[in-house]
Amino acid sequence: MTELRLEGVSKRYGSNEDGATALSEVDLTVRDGEFFTLVGPSGCGKTTTLRTIAGFEEPTEGTVSFDDEPMTDVPPERRDVGVVFQSYALFPHMSVADNVGYGLRFREPPTGTTADERVSALLELVDLEGMGERSPDQLSGGQRQRVALARALAPEPELLLLDEPMSALDARLRESLRLQLKRIQSDLEITTVYVTHDQEEALAISDRLAVMRDGELEQVGRPQEIYREPATRFVAEFVGDNNVFAGVVRDHDGTTSGEGRTRVGVGDASFELEAVSENASDSRSGPEAPRRVTFCVRPDSLSRNADVNRFTVDVDTCEFLGQSVRVHGRWNGVPVVLRLEEVPDDTVVVGFDPGDVHVVETS
Ligand code: ATP
Repeated sequence: MTELRLEGVSKRYGSNEDGATALSEVDLTVRDGEFFTLVGPSGCGKTTTLRTIAGFEEPTEGTVSFDDEPMTDVPPERRDVGVVFQSYALFPHMSVADNVGYGLRFREPPTGTTADERVSALLELVDLEGMGERSPDQLSGGQRQRVALARALAPEPELLLLDEPMSALDARLRESLRLQLKRIQSDLEITTVYVTHDQEEALAISDRLAVMRDGELEQVGRPQEIYREPATRFVAEFVGDNNVFAGVVRDHDGTTSGEGRTRVGVGDASFELEAVSENASDSRSGPEAPRRVTFCVRPDSLSRNADVNRFTVDVDTCEFLGQSVRVHGRWNGVPVVLRLEEVPDDTVVVGFDPGDVHVVETS
């Protein structure tokens, strides 16, 4: 079992003047046996991070270490990592069993097993028993991806690295495969780094995740923390549906709005939030020192039945999701997303509890 550490890892492509910075001083520890996900928009540096861990890319600065052992001079083939890519990269002329056993040509199978036994055990692990003699083109996309996973796991690597392994598969298959992957990973207790641009998948599958942006880690945390307490506006908007409002503080505790409340003006309206600062005297604003607050409210917290913080949303589009309807609309030019039980009229009045707000930025 292995702990992975990145310290001050930067990666620049090309010359300093016209080069691209793919990673910028990334510090990250992935714990022993953890399922860790890198998520973020296209071009934020996820694949570069993974390739740097695998040794396919050399960092411009910083170090990668496995269990405190620096990997700087260790080539990829000696790093003891199993890698699964989006394109399964199976060998088309080899049988499924030979694909799975490929890595065992170069490395001994785990002690106490023969190569054949190891291949059988892995095919069973990924639910492909009896398919060893088939060729890859006789398999479905999901089955091929499981062969790729079995192949990566065969030599019992210290680390498992997966780069968008499911992005070519349809939504239902992705869901069932990710459950299977999570089960296999936690049974084997193998330290895993998973790359995806799909934030829902990242929340569902990970022990912890990092939200990346422009080559930096914007926030690292457990799925619940990232979802409930996004550290920045970017995270609040990227992970899950959210409503983000930016406003100016009008009043704090006890001035007009009562104990433990902050009143924030957004355009012509004003909303009451739970006290934004522990220390109200610090944050009490005057005309010369306006204090700005950016806060977010999840769609689930915007309700037609709320008594306070009510506002009227102009409805643009509705998506029927089975148990609920996702409603996209606008309020004062701000995009708003709601989750309602039924399709509303052209406008709908909703409100939110002051305690259901999460403040992402103040200045
Ligand atoms: P995606 O989700 O689209 O795969 P990503 O988050 O994995 O994106 P990377 O592939 O790591 O992003 O790329 C990060 C940045 O580095 C991008 O701006 C990309 O254009 C740049 N980059 C990646 N590889 C190279 C390369 N070989 N030469 C020059 N720039 C590169």
